[in-house]
Amino acid sequence: MSGTVRISVRSLVEYVFRSGSIDTGFRTSTTLIEGTKAHQKIQKTYKELDQKEVYVQAELSYEDVEFIVDGRCDGLLFSDDMIIVDEIKSTSKDLSQITEETHPVHWAQAKFYAYMYAKEHGLNEMTVQLTYVHVDTEEQKRFRQIVSFTELESFVFDVVKRYAPYASMQLRHREKRNASIKELPFPFQTYREGQRKLAGAVYKTIADEKSLFAKAPTGIGKTISTTFPSAKAMGEGFLDRMFYLTAKTITRTAAEEAFSLMEKKGLCMHTVTITAKDKVCFKEETRCQKEYCEFANGYYDRINDAILDILENETILSRSVIEKYALEHKVCPFEFSVDLAYAADTVICDYNYIFDPRVSFKRLFEEQKKQTVLLVDEAHNLVDRAREMFSAEVHKSVYLQLKRNFKGINAKVHDVAHAINQYFIALRKQSDEKQIVRKELDEELVRLLEEFIIAAEMELAAGNGGEEQSLLLDAYFSVQSFVRIASLYDERYVTYTEFEKSEVRMKLFCLDPSHLLRQMGKNYRSKIYFSATLTPLSYYQDMLGAQEEDFIISIPSPFHQEQLQVFVQPVSTKYHDRERTKPNIAAALHQLIEHRPGNYLVFFPSYQYLRDVYESFMERETEVKTIVQDTGMSEEEREHFLAAFQAENEETLVGFAVLGGIFSEGIDLKGDRLNGVAVVGVGLPQLGLERNIIKDYFNAAGKNGYDYAYVFPGMNKVLQAGGRLIRSENDTGTILLIDDRFLQRKYQSLLPDEWMGFTVIR
Ligand code: SF4
Repeated sequence: MSGTVRISVRSLVEYVFRSGSIDTGFRTSTTLIEGTKAHQKIQKTYKELDQKEVYVQAELSYEDVEFIVDGRCDGLLFSDDMIIVDEIKSTSKDLSQITEETHPVHWAQAKFYAYMYAKEHGLNEMTVQLTYVHVDTEEQKRFRQIVSFTELESFVFDVVKRYAPYASMQLRHREKRNASIKELPFPFQTYREGQRKLAGAVYKTIADEKSLFAKAPTGIGKTISTTFPSAKAMGEGFLDRMFYLTAKTITRTAAEEAFSLMEKKGLCMHTVTITAKDKVCFKEETRCQKEYCEFANGYYDRINDAILDILENETILSRSVIEKYALEHKVCPFEFSVDLAYAADTVICDYNYIFDPRVSFKRLFEEQKKQTVLLVDEAHNLVDRAREMFSAEVHKSVYLQLKRNFKGINAKVHDVAHAINQYFIALRKQSDEKQIVRKELDEELVRLLEEFIIAAEMELAAGNGGEEQSLLLDAYFSVQSFVRIASLYDERYVTYTEFEKSEVRMKLFCLDPSHLLRQMGKNYRSKIYFSATLTPLSYYQDMLGAQEEDFIISIPSPFHQEQLQVFVQPVSTKYHDRERTKPNIAAALHQLIEHRPGNYLVFFPSYQYLRDVYESFMERETEVKTIVQDTGMSEEEREHFLAAFQAENEETLVGFAVLGGIFSEGIDLKGDRLNGVAVVGVGLPQLGLERNIIKDYFNAAGKNGYDYAYVFPGMNKVLQAGGRLIRSENDTGTILLIDDRFLQRKYQSLLPDEWMGFTVIR
């Protein structure tokens, strides 16, 4: 097998030298801000002729594989008698615990840079230096080694040799993959109407290195229409990786099915699914510490073998396949899936692995992003999900508790927790309001929280376990997240604080996620945002950070008008009219099912409203069977709910559910499993502080704030709920829209074309 592998020094040495256990991460994740500050501080002490951030590259060959390795060393220091390669590492660990032998991977990185520089400049020896700097005390500790070029060369070749089996396996696989893609036919006999158009648009978008906003109706087969052309683009060398990003587990399953289908037609591709940590964890509690979890203990000693084994023998790396190999190799199934994501051709995962700055793949480099497409499924969900990802909050009560817990145990943690608690007390005294909204970030709080992180890291690194450490760890993670988000804070944010008895809650609330979505999606070759309900398209383009040059496509429904009958019942569902109109709504539902027996889903904007109308509905004697959605249903209960909808049901069935809930999106009840959908209301979110802040923000930006905060997100839920009905060419059914606002032009303009021939029930 011959070929070329491009890799950064860091990835190479991290692969070869990784060892030890997973721990909760605090030891290595010293805050980015502090780490960078410490780095810069050292670099500022360099002399005039010294250089920082020096790019180095080398070509090496092992057997018949060519390696192009590159990276940036922190410093090159020139003195009369030596040239020193300086590698700076910041840490919150007590420096006395760090010896020359503590981190072989740091030496490896520095030696690689030294080799590259010496080779390029024909030097016989180099001085390799590791500089450790404490993030809090700024204390420094240095280690130096003088290494001959011959020693460096043999070291570097040994590292490459240890990486070679993995590299060759990847090269072999890539060749096989590309050959299989060339032969791959479209996995269905024919394209559905619109499907070819969407697939063509996706392919062209990737070829042209653009992004696409695609409004494509339910039932068109969006998953295969986006994954198949992406696979083809990979075969043509445009791509090396694709991410299929979803908001919900259920859509992840549809993506897995599409890849399995293509595999049956000959595709050979490593496709990994990432399942949430809590779901896939093997242990009773998700406590990722080597003392508690055997899958964390020694994880990095075993992970390379596990990766080689699974990639040599499997292609579809679903949850169950990963679990099987994880058990065999005794590695954590979650971390295993994340590590596999770096090696796989396709990754099926939640949005947050790409867009959330707190969990996104950190080891995905710019070069790799340039050969990656993001397929963003059900992209309408990304607006609110992104708001969540880019927002963060802290609570006063946590610091009061920490202050109490650490009194007499750790003065630093106690003092900083006390200072944060005092900060919130002072804030509460300043205002008689229950809520305050500010347009700026409080730097004083951020400074205190940064101090807290350092104090917490030191306490946690000492690792004496115990109850109080568990609270500290939770607080540590939430503060890290807050500080991280604080670093993104700009005019698109507000800070709002709520006071409730002795509790103070402060949230950094991202109002317009478009800018950060653009940042997080930067450098990827293409992004394909697709959904049946990107309505109005301009709103979603605006919120998802579209650029002027992005492509758009809107595909009409492939189904016939006769498959669907739509009725509008003009009744007020406004809050103050609900009591009065609920008998009318119950009567409308009875009328619907009497005329057309079958299986129905009725959606309501809230559980309370659902229960009120349900009671009214049940007052009339009826043969009809009902099933009602409840808050917090278990997986079993959800399955039971859906299983009730059978084509063979003899009696009429009415399922009462909530809009925007688990049954209003992503479920697929084909044929006679669902004969009708009724939607009560226009789906507006409940009036509340957050929605009103969003409204004011967009009003101030010259847009229609009410539409942005209420109407568009609300109507999206209506369209999604109605979209459950017609899933294939053979489905027929009835949609009943209950609200007088459906007769207003604004709301009608948001309805799909195929609903527009509706009949008004007077
Ligand atoms: S198996 Fe569970 S507890 Fe163990 S490392 Fe993985 S997620 Fe953490």
